[in-house]
Amino acid sequence: MTARLIDGTAVARAVRADVGRRVAELVAGGGTAPGLATVLIGDDPASEVYVRNKRRLCTEAGMADLHRHLPGDVDQATVAALLDELAADPEVSGILLQLPVPAHLDSEALLSHIPAEKDVDGLSTANAGLLAQGRPGLRPCTPAGVMALLADQDVALSGAEAVVVGRSVLVGRPMAQLLLAADATVTIAHSRTRDLAAVCRRADVLVVAAGIPGLVGADAVKPGATVIDVGIHRTEQGLRGDVDLDAVAAVAGAVTPVPGGVGPMTIAMLLANTLTAATVQQGRPSR
Ligand code: ADP
Repeated sequence: MTARLIDGTAVARAVRADVGRRVAELVAGGGTAPGLATVLIGDDPASEVYVRNKRRLCTEAGMADLHRHLPGDVDQATVAALLDELAADPEVSGILLQLPVPAHLDSEALLSHIPAEKDVDGLSTANAGLLAQGRPGLRPCTPAGVMALLADQDVALSGAEAVVVGRSVLVGRPMAQLLLAADATVTIAHSRTRDLAAVCRRADVLVVAAGIPGLVGADAVKPGATVIDVGIHRTEQGLRGDVDLDAVAAVAGAVTPVPGGVGPMTIAMLLANTLTAATVQQGRPSR
């Protein structure tokens, strides 16, 4: 068997186009265009690239780019004051503090200045709590992107066996919560899991976010399963994921490639979150 390759680039493009249409509808209906405040501290080249992409796609979707750049030696109180100002500004629908921040700053303390309703990364304690309780809130972008890919592929989740490899706050934990909310039977595997391959073989839907190149091979995949690879690693052969793509494609029903799978979905979901935040703040029904 040869697995279908899930085209995350195409799905992400469709999500961004949908966000763009809904932004236009919001504005046409008398609302205000959503505004995303990206906050970048210092000049780390990788962070600059990420922030530039977020700003470009935000503008493309018809949202206001409210970027703020602070020098790398800025003090904690100044950043906190900026975040408080953005939190109070009605033009700002979402605030994204680009991580990592320079080592002399306390990122946890800074993130607590972003109110839950503007936390478009969905990583605050408040939004994590809402997700854990199955209540509406802003969802972390990468796991939300995985859910959007599964929906695009019409993967049935109710009653399905889902295995998530990894338990990070960024991906594994919220991923498991989202699958649970979709009525899957969810197992979380991690670095202490005994016989990882056997646990993974139970999965109808296998989501891998362990940060280990090639961790999941063909022996860990049930024939016909849907395999989602969240890992991304720069290797001498180019970008690779946590899944051994060539081997797994011979067994799985569908699999995301790296690059071009989950990666492009993350910014698309950031834009979707910013629109949701704006819609809620403007007292309009959100979808
Ligand atoms: P991400 O940023 O994708 O969430 P991290 O590198 O922060 O990834 O987290 C890696 C996660 O993967 C950890 O939660 C850890 O428990 C899990 N993990 C690490 N090694 C293994 C392993 N050998 N098998 C399964 N899970 C693992």
